[in-house]
Amino acid sequence: MQITSKIYVAGHRGMVGSAIVKDLTNRGFTNIITRTSTELNLINQQDVADFFEKEKPEYVFLAAAKVGGIVANNTLRADFIYENILIQSNVIHQSYKNGVKKLLFLGSTCIYPKLAPQPLKEEYLLTGLLEETNEPYAIAKIAGIKMCDAYRDQYNSNFISVMPTNLYGFNDNYDLQNSHVLPALLRKFHEAKQNNESEVVVWGTGTPLREFLHASDMANACVYLMQNYNEKGFVNIGTGKEISIKDLAILVKHIVGYEGQIVFDTSKPDGTPRKLTDTTKLNGLGWRHTIELPEGIRRVYQEKFNG
Ligand code: GDP
Repeated sequence: MQITSKIYVAGHRGMVGSAIVKDLTNRGFTNIITRTSTELNLINQQDVADFFEKEKPEYVFLAAAKVGGIVANNTLRADFIYENILIQSNVIHQSYKNGVKKLLFLGSTCIYPKLAPQPLKEEYLLTGLLEETNEPYAIAKIAGIKMCDAYRDQYNSNFISVMPTNLYGFNDNYDLQNSHVLPALLRKFHEAKQNNESEVVVWGTGTPLREFLHASDMANACVYLMQNYNEKGFVNIGTGKEISIKDLAILVKHIVGYEGQIVFDTSKPDGTPRKLTDTTKLNGLGWRHTIELPEGIRRVYQEKFNG
């Protein structure tokens, strides 16, 4: 990518997309184009075709997707598969038709089989059954990766995919029903502290293990791979470190400064027991995360809640 290359960031209002725009801007890129969902409906094939035809972007970061936590994924099953398949198919196909030099597609670690050995290596894709709660979303994301590979095979398109672990950061979704665990916990502990509540309810048993990466590290890795990776398949993006939901709750509790109790609601689903990425490939390509979890949570708490 040249400093003046025309770069389209799809999903620039989302957590990753906004962090990518920020990272590119910090690096001095001057020709970044974005569209809100009202300006461009990525589900509409003709609208996406018209947009690419008119704008002719040279590079595309495909960070637009319908995303959510465990409950949203499990209840809006049709919406998650339908909208994601349409968004990614439209953008990938139009990128091919309009001669985009390179596209980066964002996947998610839920694409790995539920019982895959840990840490998750890239080659474990499609070696077993998926986690039931987010299967429709995972199937859509797997289709996106395979689509990038197929366009590379048939048309020589330089389309790459990355597989982020659980992300957190500025511009996250803080809705208590539909968000991921980290923003949900930050909000729950913050509000409990403000309202002097005696307990905070954490879903599930607290035993599942998760890995978390700050969105600005994620954006930095995406831009790095856009400049340094040109192969089929995908690259995991994570820290390679994990924490239990219980320890995460304790960490957030301390950062927020809440002094009440933590209670586990075991009627809520745990989801997959463990999800840790193997970052050997990523580290081998020369990239490593810089923001450790306690520091990242502190930053987000400060930015979002003035904590
Ligand atoms: P997942 O990583 O795809 O399973 O999605 P989530 O981030 O939604 O959930 C991760 C884990 O955190 C699961 O075991 C949840 O049960 C647990 N968890 C605990 N409290 C909460 C909460 O308030 N919101 C969410 N979304 N998850 C929670």
